[in-house]
Amino acid sequence: MWRFDGYPGRYLDVCLSSGSLKEIQLDKQTLLNNMGGKGLATHLLTTRDTTDDEAYDLQHPITGDADPAMHPSTPLLLMTGPFQGSKIGSSGRAVVCTRSPLTNIFIDTYIGGDFGHDLRLAGWDGLFIHGRSDSMVRLEIEDMDVSLQDAESMRGMTTWQCEKAIDADDVFSIGPAGESLVRIASPITAGRRAAGRGGTGASFGAKNLKAISVSNTGTARVADDTQYLGAVKKQRQKMGENRRVGDPFYRFGTSRGPIYAAQMARMPTINYTSATGAIFQNGQKVKQLNTVKLSGEYWHQSMPEAKQSGCCRPCPIACEASHRPSKGKPLHILRTERPEYETLAMLGSNLGIDSSLDVMDGNDACNQFGVDTISSGALISLVCELAQRGWFPDGWAEGEINGLPAFISLEGELIAWEFGNPKLPPLALARLANPSGMFTILAGGAVASSRWVEQETGHPATRLTAHCKGLDLPAWDPRGKRGNAMAYMTCNVGANHMRAGYKNPTGIPDSSALDLMPELIHSQNESVIRDSMILCAFASGATPDDVLVNAFNGITGDNASIEDLHLRANKQWDAARQWNVEHWLKIGVEPRQQDLLSYRLRRDALPDGPAAGMVSFVDDADESACLSEYYNLRGWAHSS
Ligand code: SF4
Repeated sequence: MWRFDGYPGRYLDVCLSSGSLKEIQLDKQTLLNNMGGKGLATHLLTTRDTTDDEAYDLQHPITGDADPAMHPSTPLLLMTGPFQGSKIGSSGRAVVCTRSPLTNIFIDTYIGGDFGHDLRLAGWDGLFIHGRSDSMVRLEIEDMDVSLQDAESMRGMTTWQCEKAIDADDVFSIGPAGESLVRIASPITAGRRAAGRGGTGASFGAKNLKAISVSNTGTARVADDTQYLGAVKKQRQKMGENRRVGDPFYRFGTSRGPIYAAQMARMPTINYTSATGAIFQNGQKVKQLNTVKLSGEYWHQSMPEAKQSGCCRPCPIACEASHRPSKGKPLHILRTERPEYETLAMLGSNLGIDSSLDVMDGNDACNQFGVDTISSGALISLVCELAQRGWFPDGWAEGEINGLPAFISLEGELIAWEFGNPKLPPLALARLANPSGMFTILAGGAVASSRWVEQETGHPATRLTAHCKGLDLPAWDPRGKRGNAMAYMTCNVGANHMRAGYKNPTGIPDSSALDLMPELIHSQNESVIRDSMILCAFASGATPDDVLVNAFNGITGDNASIEDLHLRANKQWDAARQWNVEHWLKIGVEPRQQDLLSYRLRRDALPDGPAAGMVSFVDDADESACLSEYYNLRGWAHSS
């Protein structure tokens, strides 16, 4: 079934307008040049973009901007890489790549679980989906047998209901939020693994695509077993060693984040008005959240029966934890999964909530309705701050509690838009998934909503959002770390924390990050290689360059060096940038301006902690110098 060593050698072209399903074969050199995963998705998206010119006539319902992301002709890609179908640890991944409904620029966002392995073993490098079905459908893949099935009866189902309704190895589906074109909607697999960022659930919804399911009986074909299995062995040994020496990540995953993020002034608190868990009112500290209670350690103390688990096979790290009464597929019992750091921060401290147990309800709501936890936290915290400031537009409030505007939950309860209320996130998200009233505006996400409020009320609501290029900040505050702002600003998707990293601590932004620019570019290219293979970011430390290269060459039969892979990655980074620049020029905006962080991160200094008084750069001149240096090193024009 596989045409080449390491690659099935084909993708499935799905035209939802006509219902046609076509196998498109790829030649081996194209596959090697683009590696797979993100690289292949970027190549196909930028060279085979099916978007019509009329797509730019489509207007965003909240901002009125051009909205090509939601045009039926815009392609939606789901790709796997050479590590899927293999025994490389932490490789249960797949990438969704498209024009983001949230930002209208390039987005690539990753799911865990088994879907990626199973799609590849079914014989497909990936899927290229375009057009729009007249009625709700789902795509069924059983090895090389592919079909579109009627899914009208699944309309309105949550992702958990979809997974129960479809009999397949894996299901990747949207909930009501994606159907309602909520711009922060996420498709979900395995009950809780989300293609979280950029609102790609709305891309599914815009195409009337409810779900993709896959079952397989296939096996992978590799070039050199000895070389490949040698790499697997080395990686496993390193992972075993890390576990033996007590690497806390292997016990708590990202959920330890709240403890050190707050100490380092990185943890969003009350809509990014501080980064330490401290709550301020009129410049005075009035409360300190207990960020330890937000951590995974606290969660485990509270749920002693919970066990560590892994849901992306094969993964010796197994960074998840849950309390499940039986093995096998998740049972979707409420309050069982340990939330990730980003969720603990965005649905916790950023909303004034300081218990990891309370955060689980918001997390579960996101997974069921199919919404991104990060952008949900950004949206709800924005509305709470608007309420606190008295900047609510006329007609938004459905009631009032203690002088604060409120909404009516689906159960008929009046809920105040206030920080510190654990009931608020799950009940607000239930309304958001089926939007009516003010929620029809909130469906645009935090940035679009802030623009609408500013327009309606005259209050500068856009100053309250924390984002880059329209993508909500992923719970790591750049005002607490030198060089972090540039990582967000130069990332093709906007504010993403997984596309760059500095090897050593960089300090706080009281001095320029100019010297870090070569390392930033190198690490971005590393992330492209990792995301093209596709390897989980958390396995990077246990997968040094020699292991990665031997795994890639052993699987595919290539003879690439790490330098060769960096050259290929560099081209992909540039291609995605060029695609974004073409979009910005089409809509008449200045690319360099688009790279800047939002007002709150550039102008509102942190009130306390080790970075007290700081914003994301030393000053505007420093910001400009860092951007110019980065553009120079990338070989980009200064205006782009
Ligand atoms: S480290 Fe965690 S997220 Fe990464 S592959 Fe393993 S289980 Fe999945």
